[in-house]
Amino acid sequence: MLFSELGLSEQLLAAVAEQGYQSPTPIQAQAIPVVLAGRDVMAGAQTGTGKTASFTLPLLQLLQSQAIPQRPRPVRVLILTPTRELAMQVYESVKTYGKHLPFFAEAIFGGVSINPQIQKLQRGTDIVVATPGRLLDLIQQQHLSLAQVEHFVLDEADRMLDMGFIRDIRKIMALLPKKRQNLLFSATYSPEITALSEQLLNEPVEIAVAKRNAAADTVSQLIYPIKREHKRELLSYLIGSGHWQQVLVFVRTKHGADRLCKQMIKDGIRCAALHGDKSQGARVRALEDFKAGSITALIATDIAARGLDIDQLPHVVNFDLPQVAEDYVHRIGRTGRAGAEGQAISLVDQEEAYLLAAIEKLLRREIPRVADTGYEKVSLNLSATSKPKSKQTDKPVATKTGNAGRARAKPAARHTANRQQQRAKSR
Ligand code: AMP
Repeated sequence: MLFSELGLSEQLLAAVAEQGYQSPTPIQAQAIPVVLAGRDVMAGAQTGTGKTASFTLPLLQLLQSQAIPQRPRPVRVLILTPTRELAMQVYESVKTYGKHLPFFAEAIFGGVSINPQIQKLQRGTDIVVATPGRLLDLIQQQHLSLAQVEHFVLDEADRMLDMGFIRDIRKIMALLPKKRQNLLFSATYSPEITALSEQLLNEPVEIAVAKRNAAADTVSQLIYPIKREHKRELLSYLIGSGHWQQVLVFVRTKHGADRLCKQMIKDGIRCAALHGDKSQGARVRALEDFKAGSITALIATDIAARGLDIDQLPHVVNFDLPQVAEDYVHRIGRTGRAGAEGQAISLVDQEEAYLLAAIEKLLRREIPRVADTGYEKVSLNLSATSKPKSKQTDKPVATKTGNAGRARAKPAARHTANRQQQRAKSR
């Protein structure tokens, strides 16, 4: 299928061609005509499938088909996202796809000064991409009205609910005009999502491009059964020996992200930590450095990594398995985006076997194990379906090579030798 067969305007087709897109992705091919027809949509599409363009392109076209309102322009499209990173990303997409059209868009999110956002809103804007909290602040302060919104998008609705935004979403829904088009995008489905969709959507067209709760097919997945205290060394080894240029590493806690980052810097790997305690400036900088290739590893918590759009990210590593199995799908959705191939590696300790069992149950398949990790053998007993009694350690692992060396089993010696070479290379 071609973009030109979807009924998009020449300005939008030109913007798409400038992005170098050859053909619409499955979610785009299915959603664009339906959104153009004015229908409500419930789309099960994980990140990386091209979902942003699947709603942005037709909504821009619907605006284009109407007369341009007098200034200050009322908000006619509202896109809600769970995180500021995703808001920025969707906002960039709106600007990219709408570059040949005369519409104004603004991104609204917390963690930055409110005044520039107020000033921009005073000029009027057609499209607002927002996180719920800051949006409600601005509405309460009467800098923004939703009374003329015609199209409402809930992006990554599952994550919104995970992050506890349900009350904010309800408040926002109550401020919208009754007659409007609603689009709900969610990577995973749960009873809560179904309940929300029933309140929000009116005779929706259901679109599902990947199997529900399935991981992207273009991602090759591997499990390294390994003791917790060897994980950092193995990760540094994988990065160095594989000459990885770009890897997103997931950890469970903010503290864990900072600690791992410090340790990996000692291993000679350029990295930055990304989590909710970092200032907006630091987060933007880390992301830009990562995209530009000046850092190799970005070490992130789930919430901070949500919505990151890095073209063709080749490697994702789960340093810790997520507590919620659905997050595994979100995490590995960072790689293998829009048809590109990617690799997702999980370093799994015996204590995390019950989390792995939940993930494999969700995926309905077994993820292949690496038989020889080069370290002491760890058997993952998947019959354990709940958290083991012993507390999961969140203590620093040995940082000195000496300690790590002693803890290591013999086969790891080859890793150490390789690591010396990597260090030399990465300096
Ligand atoms: P999304 O799922 O919206 O986060 O998009 C994932 C990535 O796919 C983004 O980097 C887009 O630029 C890219 N993308 C979107 N549509 C297409 C397309 N039709 N062909 C190739 N890449 C695309």
